[in-house]
Amino acid sequence: MINSYGMSDVGLVRNSNEDSYILDPEKGLFVVADGMGGAQAGETASRIAVETLSAEIHRAGNATPETLVHAVELANENIRGAAERNPAHAGMGTTVVAVLVQLPKAYIASVGDSRGYLWTHRELFCVTSDDTWVNQVGRGLGLSDEQLRKHPYRNVLTRAVGAEDRIEVKAQEIELLPGDLLLLCSDGLHSVTGEDALLEILEKPGSLQQKCEQLIAAALARGAPDNITTILVEHVGDAEAPLEDGAP
Ligand code: CA
Repeated sequence: MINSYGMSDVGLVRNSNEDSYILDPEKGLFVVADGMGGAQAGETASRIAVETLSAEIHRAGNATPETLVHAVELANENIRGAAERNPAHAGMGTTVVAVLVQLPKAYIASVGDSRGYLWTHRELFCVTSDDTWVNQVGRGLGLSDEQLRKHPYRNVLTRAVGAEDRIEVKAQEIELLPGDLLLLCSDGLHSVTGEDALLEILEKPGSLQQKCEQLIAAALARGAPDNITTILVEHVGDAEAPLEDGAP
């Protein structure tokens, strides 16, 4: 069985929220998308992404990891099609981090710099890798974390859904143990909140809703320059635990 909760906040600087997210516990689908592009294009791109993923997973019946990757490719086509039809939306795009949970497996597809983290055995692991200039070029140049944080290309994505005709979707699978937590988030959380702060919140007792609220609060306390979206998914163990002796 899984338990899940998600929330999004505009932050303290932006006027609108370009992040979109979806929780579909019945299908095991959880998605965060962080849109970009002026004139409401960012909201549109991220919304098309989550709607396309949801529609494809429902249409598939028995969704597989390939369904998830295909759905992101289809979102790419749909966003490009929408941008062609509306010149004001030209160049819009979005990140996607999508998880399909089929216990004990979780299949993850990602493009861009929204992240997935796994909290297991009281440790936090980032299970996605950012499609960013910093990650793919800057680190290879031997620049320090401090230099990368101030670099003019620090916010540049090397891939986004909707940016090009063909898209490369990174896919992986992980195994969830009872008690494990998956955190999906936009960069409005992870770029301002260090992993130590995330870990501290995740390991404290409390409901998923309380933890999501604390994650958002942590970003707000650090100035929240960007929209913040967070989803938590917990493997809560087997719903069909053996009945005690004497139970009917
Ligand atoms: Ca963002």
